[in-house]
Amino acid sequence: MTLATSKPPESAAFADQRSRMVEFQLRGGGISDERVLEAMSKVPREEFVPSDMLDCAYGDCPLPIGAGQTISQPFTVAFMCQALKLSGDERVLEVGTGSGYAAAVLSLLAKEVFTVERIGRLAERAKARLLQLHYDNVHVFTADGTLGLADQAPFDGIVVTAGAPELPAPYVTQLREGGRIVIPLGCAPFDQCMYRYTKHGEDLRRENLGGFAFVPLIGKHGWKGDFLR
Ligand code: SAM
Repeated sequence: MTLATSKPPESAAFADQRSRMVEFQLRGGGISDERVLEAMSKVPREEFVPSDMLDCAYGDCPLPIGAGQTISQPFTVAFMCQALKLSGDERVLEVGTGSGYAAAVLSLLAKEVFTVERIGRLAERAKARLLQLHYDNVHVFTADGTLGLADQAPFDGIVVTAGAPELPAPYVTQLREGGRIVIPLGCAPFDQCMYRYTKHGEDLRRENLGGFAFVPLIGKHGWKGDFLR
């Protein structure tokens, strides 16, 4: 007989994989922000990957989510969240909702998360999943995220989970004083460096955080072609 309080074996197995992911891939890979590690230890990545990929839910790699797009590698999600240096009171814009996984992690690190996805069916799926899992401080939009979300600005943090040729100008306008933008930039669609920009009055301080590979950010202030569909 199964006790009502006991976890189903599958979810216990996922919880075990999740804590190993946090220890070995994240802490072992150099992620040190305890709030980020805690958030990553709480969000069930298995809920955000396709059902035929559950075995790979905690693998150290991105996974396909349909429409030629991917859910990012756990390390990359943790790295970008850490780079934003969130304390919990912030309004954050995420560009590139994808599966909704990073938005769920951000929702535990910030006060409100606004996430925008250009592909309608991915946005709708992510919205339903986030609602079902009670990530109630996440707001999902379908739009060209290279324009930011002017109606919801200003933001304390902006994180872009697709690679752009250059920093889209609307992000600077929509960023609050002292706020941060974390974005992969590169002159080829799948080969970027991650940058953090910090706004100080008229100045925008830029730091290079290292090499990454992302799907392209496509839109008015991004890449123009559709590379993957
Ligand atoms: N953060 C996502 C997650 O946790 O699953 C992974 C994002 S995936 C690496 C990049 C996403 O950016 C794709 O879903 C893609 O459709 C989206 N994207 C590309 N260009 C965009 C744009 N201009 N506006 C909004 N989303 C865009």
